[in-house]
Amino acid sequence: MYDYVIVGAGIIGLSTAYHIKKQRPDSSILIIDKAPGPGAGDTSKSAAAFRVFFTNRVNFALAHSSVEFYKHIQEQEGFDLSMRYVGYLFMPDKELMENMKIGLKEADKRGLPYKILDPKELEEKLGIRTIVEGLEEAEIMDAENIEAGILIENAGILMPDRLVQYYYEKLKSMNVEFAFETRVTGFKLMPRNPLGIEGEPFPWQDTRVDAVIVNGDRELQARKKIIVAAGAWTPFLLEPIGVDSFSRPKKRQIFVIKADTLEKKKTLYAKGLNNEGISPMLILPNGAYLRPAPEEDAFWTGYSDELGRPFMLEEDPVPEERFYLYGIHPMISLYLPQFEGSNPVSMWAGHYDMSFDGMPVVFEAYESDLIVSAGTSGSGILKGDGIGAVTAALALGKDEAELFTGETLKVKWLGLTERLLEKEYMII
Ligand SMILES: Cc1cc2nc3c(=O)[nH]c(=O)nc-3n(C[C@H](O)[C@H](O)[C@H](O)COP(=O)(O)OP(=O)(O)OC[C@H]3O[C@@H](n4cnc5c(N)ncnc54)[C@H](O)[C@@H]3O)c2cc1C
Repeated sequence: MYDYVIVGAGIIGLSTAYHIKKQRPDSSILIIDKAPGPGAGDTSKSAAAFRVFFTNRVNFALAHSSVEFYKHIQEQEGFDLSMRYVGYLFMPDKELMENMKIGLKEADKRGLPYKILDPKELEEKLGIRTIVEGLEEAEIMDAENIEAGILIENAGILMPDRLVQYYYEKLKSMNVEFAFETRVTGFKLMPRNPLGIEGEPFPWQDTRVDAVIVNGDRELQARKKIIVAAGAWTPFLLEPIGVDSFSRPKKRQIFVIKADTLEKKKTLYAKGLNNEGISPMLILPNGAYLRPAPEEDAFWTGYSDELGRPFMLEEDPVPEERFYLYGIHPMISLYLPQFEGSNPVSMWAGHYDMSFDGMPVVFEAYESDLIVSAGTSGSGILKGDGIGAVTAALALGKDEAELFTGETLKVKWLGLTERLLEKEYMII
């Protein structure tokens, strides 16, 4: 019997436990995961790029506080997360530019720095072809010229396994317990006022979640709350007990391209854009991105594919080389001709846990027995600490969560009934 039982030892389960423990050091917590260790789900599949830049104000606040906290871990606590402030360089088409203006307004309000780069600078510093009009490939792909680049400076890359290690070590020192290689197979439902009749609970009875069922038969009870933070698996865990998590998995893939020519190296080790002497995360107009991976002398490439691909879960997602060849390669080599003919040396796939509006979904079900924290929508690492703070606040019965930046967020803004409805356009 624990006070809190958390399903999922990804970034969200870990940070939630951390925030509960910080506020209630005496509470007992068990974190369950089917994997052999922490962070082995989508947290380990992440590109682990971070940015304080969104169009939804809640996402913006979550990102701001989480990134500040990670910076504190790295700089004040001396725990190396390999954070490198390389920046995010957006090269928006006209439609994205309109949406970016919303985020830029919020950045101005918060005093966060960004720079506008002209096409000449993009060409000289990064080898980007900004004029594509007239090229046959551009016409086929309906690709536009790049008018400008917007460099978001409070942004960069980190190592997700280091972040997981930080929380894991902290939680162990706070006496949080872990049950790995333990699969949650269901939830036991009981009437609040049992009558002792076989077949309970009946539809007319007020029902509660009594326990988490693990490995098919063992029951684990929580004195206070059961918290489901199972990432892309969340809907499949909750649907059998009639709870809609309003989130669904979508496959996302990463392909590693070596900087194996002088031209590609010039792009990877671009000078004069940040203090690191490394290319920023490059977001091309058509949705393809290149994330610098200097420790591998490579770029990780991906694509924010929305339409045309199914919402579905693959237990062990397999990357599709065809997706790179016909999806990503033509788009990156249009704007960065030095990548023409580049083949991936390795690749992997995972899932985004997509909510309907791109903002996390944090709510209670079965009155308040069960708490759901899902819908990280492709930015759960960079918003992870903030989402954990909000989930912990709900678990502790608070209306507001205090974030690391000192900002407060109303928990109900992330919920279902009084949600702050603002579409997030910056899902990458
Ligand atoms: C290709 C890719 C690139 C990404 N890039 C970025 C990025 O640049 N920046 C960023 O911020 N985010 C990025 N993300 C998103 C980020 O990785 C996720 O938002 C985040 O890791 C979600 O964390 P989580 O804790 O919700 O889920 P997870 O890390 O998946 O954790 C859920 C855990 O639940 C466990 N679990 C599931 N079902 C059960 C069960 N039945 N019983 C027991 N345990 C169970 C799983 O084993 C898993 O460990 C990326 C994701 C992908 C796939």
